[in-house]
Amino acid sequence: MRTLFALFACGWLIALPAAAHEAQRVAPGIYVLPGVLAEPDAKNAGRVVNTGFIVSRRGVVVIDSGANLRQGEAICAAIRRVTRRPVILLIDTHPHPQNVLGNAAFTRRRIPILATAMTAEKMNERCPRCLEHLTASVGAEAMAGSEIVLPQQRITAETTLDLGDRRVHVIPTGWGHSEGDLVVLDDKSGVLFAADLVYAGQIPHLSEARAKGWLEALDLLLTLPARQVVPGRGPVGTPQEIKNFRRYLDALYQRVTADYQAGRTLDETLNRLDLPEFHAWQGYAERHPLNIQHVWYEIERNDFDAAANANP
Ligand SMILES: [Zn+2]
Repeated sequence: MRTLFALFACGWLIALPAAAHEAQRVAPGIYVLPGVLAEPDAKNAGRVVNTGFIVSRRGVVVIDSGANLRQGEAICAAIRRVTRRPVILLIDTHPHPQNVLGNAAFTRRRIPILATAMTAEKMNERCPRCLEHLTASVGAEAMAGSEIVLPQQRITAETTLDLGDRRVHVIPTGWGHSEGDLVVLDDKSGVLFAADLVYAGQIPHLSEARAKGWLEALDLLLTLPARQVVPGRGPVGTPQEIKNFRRYLDALYQRVTADYQAGRTLDETLNRLDLPEFHAWQGYAERHPLNIQHVWYEIERNDFDAAANANP
């Protein structure tokens, strides 16, 4: 009966392999749908970030909708295999396409979407281009029916959801990995959905990031009473994952800053800034040089701004 309901609720999705979207139980009432540690491509259809959901007496709260309508529908189907309780809210953790382009699956069920005000603003600004880029990476078939749906509920400060048998804290963390990051902490289980503020076993993307703000956000996460951490990428772990990831970002930031202050050029830094400790993380060869450049430009911009402010 439950299977029949899932098929009915999510119609055409029956063609997808079911095992690819099975929810993994992290704690009582807390589930994760793991993404693949890879760049978005036709094979993974853009499913490269972890999404999740929290089951409460009042209903289900979903964290991120995935890369396309199909993934959003697959999340709905996975929820139906776990519980018959209604989905009452979708939270978009930040404005990246792999996290938000499945939103339409939720609005067609009249489920409200919550995000930071900055996430809504950046989605409005960038998502048309993101949708094009992601379609070029994964193919038009995977993106069929996907559309840009902006969050209607927009927050700028910590918000607590009273879900009856559990309270869930939605915590904006400022401009770190992206301009609009937030994390979700379930106080009953101590599970923290850290989204893309934490990568486990993968070199991060910094294309919209501020490395300094990101390090500050990680320090904030380390003060939260979390017992388990669901990273945006990679397997579920403990708060140690936050520390492991912070080591990469801190080494990158400190080393680029030292070279910049020593008067080295960006090219010199690109040639010498190797971090062997992180060679085994997925994406090191491609992403690490890009991250050096990104941090270099961030430090240079801050330097120019400071000089301009000192000599207006
Ligand atoms: Zn992201």
